[in-house]
Formats: sequence, structure tokens, C-alpha cells
Amino acid sequence: MARLVLKFGGTSVADLDRIRNVAQHVKREVDAGHEVAVVVSAMSGKTNELVAWARDASPMHDAREYDSIVASGEQVTAGLLAICLQAIGVEARSWLGWQIPIKTDNAHGSARIKDIDGTELIKRFAKGQVAVIAGFQGIAEDNRITTLGRGGSDTTAVAIAAAVKADRCDIYTDVDGVYTTDPRIQPKAQRLEKISFEEMLEMASLGAKVLQVRSVEMAMVHGVKTFVRSSFDDPKSIDSSPGATPVGTLICNEEDIVEKEVVTGIAYARDESQISLRRVPDKPGISAAIFGPLAEANVNVDMIVQSVSEDGSRTDMTFTLPDGDLARALEVLDAEREAIGFELIQHDKGLVKVSVIGIGMRSHAGVASTAFAALASKGINIRAITTSEIKFSVLINSEYTELAVRTLHSVYGLDKVSA
Ligand code: ADP
Ligand code: ASP
Ligand code: MG
Repeated sequence: MARLVLKFGGTSVADLDRIRNVAQHVKREVDAGHEVAVVVSAMSGKTNELVAWARDASPMHDAREYDSIVASGEQVTAGLLAICLQAIGVEARSWLGWQIPIKTDNAHGSARIKDIDGTELIKRFAKGQVAVIAGFQGIAEDNRITTLGRGGSDTTAVAIAAAVKADRCDIYTDVDGVYTTDPRIQPKAQRLEKISFEEMLEMASLGAKVLQVRSVEMAMVHGVKTFVRSSFDDPKSIDSSPGATPVGTLICNEEDIVEKEVVTGIAYARDESQISLRRVPDKPGISAAIFGPLAEANVNVDMIVQSVSEDGSRTDMTFTLPDGDLARALEVLDAEREAIGFELIQHDKGLVKVSVIGIGMRSHAGVASTAFAALASKGINIRAITTSEIKFSVLINSEYTELAVRTLHSVYGLDKVSA
């Protein structure tokens, strides 16, 4: 017998038929003798609709009310799944964040989980009851409902798994694992049997939305065995016995991966903006003068490129930020124009950051230069580059996204060899 947390995302609970299918997956695990808690997302598209309603009501809405609106999608699916489970003879009840409780800080819209009391859930396991938990939501110190940021049900699932000391956390989604890149834009992408926490963390933060970044952080910190798999596999054809090896991707420690490739995956993130400040005085304190006020205004600056000034007096400073932060950043820089002393400001939006990730980069030189040559051969201009120990990223125009991802996927030997 094992203790399992199963999480089902939006497309897996898109309508009543899909929810009934989820109930069969849950029943399969219960019948195999496992203790089961389930975490559900809202039906696909529901959260977007709720977010749009909140914005329509007022663009400057109260973040606490935003949370109470957008958390409602998960409440519906939790109740429906509990009913569908009961209908096939599985004892189940729904749980909202505050009922467990899942305690968070009060950063409405992107709250962090601080504590989960797993005692009651564990007691119910002993009685054979399945807990169906609404993902994405918690309760703050002031007793108000919070949400965990988009994609947050993954984090709920891993956090619950840590709190009840589950043997495994299964993230069921609409693909059967983590792939070398998004299979929707590269059909030749291959499923990875295993990926290290560190690489998954990079993939997720660089745009692979198959797991929310915080869920990977949490799995890494608490050592939660996390397995990504498909809810579209026929529940009846899956073997849930202890020795069985289901299809999916295990997120695990680096030491547990025998075959290490130099490059593990390619990720991309859309909606990036670029700002260039031209002819900035090249003197100590200039970066602080630019990035200090931006940080204070909560602008999320990412890549930073400073060019060497010819005579040591003036330089250009280019950096990237999410499109959503652009208007605010331009306002801040305009107000600081005199203090910074730049001569010209230029900006572009709707750009794309493509990233190459692999632990093997630590010990291999020249990985990035292969990418630069490959992109050049396709006529793709690189606007900015950043590198770190196990990844590098390039900023490009959005019309080249698919071409860039596919080119890099192929140049690093990641394409599936068709049988
Ligand atoms: P859910 O609703 O189940 O949470 P998401 O839509 O959040 O599902 O995440 C699954 C999607 O992530 C897939 O449909 C896929 O298009 C996308 N994705 C992006 N990068 C990857 C990758 N490297 N491997 C697998 N899926 C990826
Ligand atoms: N329903 C929420 C969202 O769409 C949370 C989730 O699906 O993980 O972001
Ligand atoms: Mg998701």
C-alpha cells in the first residue's frame, strides 16, 4: 500500500465526462489498496473567464476580491469529482483550502503556502476516505481566501504530498510526461523518462508550463517524488500494482539519472519586452540608478546587457522584462531620466526568449556557440543573450519562435528518430 496524491489539471476535468474519467483513475488506485488524496484544477478555460470578469468589473480591482472570484472554479470541480466518486462506490468528500487549512501569506494573486495541517487528511485515509481538494487556493492570516498564481494547483498537490508524507505525487495532465520541448510546437519532441529537479526548475521558469515553478521548488526542498503523466490514458489499461512502471516522467535527484545528456530540453517564453537606454554615463552607481527604481516599482527585470563604451564615458544598457510590466517601467524611467542621464530610450514588445537547458553544460564547453551558429544559419537575429551554469537564453523576434525551437531541438540531437 502506498499513499498517493493525484493532481488533475484543467483539460483533465474539462467537462462531466472527463471528470467521470478522472474518477475511474482514482478508483483504480483505491482498488489497488492505496491511500489517495486528489487535487483538482478548475475546468479548462474557467479561470481565464473568471479573471476576465474581475478585470471587466474594474481594472483596479481589490486583489482580495479577485482571489475570492478566481478560487471558485476549483470549488466546482472538487464537488463534482466527489459526487462522481461516490456514484461509483468510492467514499469521498471535497475540501476547500480553508477547510484543511492550507495557510498562505497574504500576497493575494500569488500567495505562498506557509503551512498545511495534514492531520485530518491522514485520519480520513485510515477510514478509507478519498480527499478531493480544490487546488490553487488557500487562506491568509486575515482569514481571506488567497490564490497561488496561475498554474498553482500543481503547487497545492506537491504541498499536500509533503504535508501527508505521500509516497508519490502524480501530476496528471494532457501530455504523458515532460518532453524535450513543448510537444505542441515540436512534434519530434521526446518524452523524458526522468529529469532532475534543477533542470525541471529551469524548464518551468523559462516557460515550460507543464509544472508551476513553485511546485518544482517545493518538490525539491521536501524531496517529494513527483511524476508527470497523462489522464488521457485509459484508466482500465493501467497497472497500479507496486512493481508496475507507468508511462510518464519522474522528477528526481540528479544522482538518480544514469544517462546524462549535455542538453536536456528547450523552453520558450512569449510576451517579453526589451528596453534599451542609449548613451548612459558609464560610471559607478549607474546600474543602481536604473534598476533600483524599477525594482521598487515591482518591475521584473530579466536579461541585462551592457555594451562596452568606446572612450569610457557613455554606454548602452539593454534589458528585458515581461510585456505586462512595460508601461510601468517606461513611466519609472521617464521620471528618473535626469538622475540616470540617458540620451535616448527605445523599446520593443512581444518578443520571445528561447532557452536551452542541460546539467551537462557544467562540464562541456561550446554548447552555446553551437546554438548561435545554428540560429545564424536560419537568419534569426539574436537581440540579447544570457548564460548561467546549466542554461542559456536568447531573445528573438516572435515570428521566429517555432523555427528557433525546432532548429535548436535538432542541433542538440533531441529529435525523435521515427521508427
Ligand atoms: P494542466 O491543465 O494539466 O495543468 P498545462 O496546460 O498547465 O496542463 O500544462 C500542460 C501543457 O504544457 C502541455 O499541453 C504542453 O503543451 C505544455 N508544455 C510546455 N512545455 C512542455 C514540455 N517540455 N513537456 C510537456 N509539456 C509541455
Ligand atoms: N485553475 C488555475 C489556473 O488556471 C490553477 C491551475 O489550473 O493550476 O491557473
Ligand atoms: Mg498547469
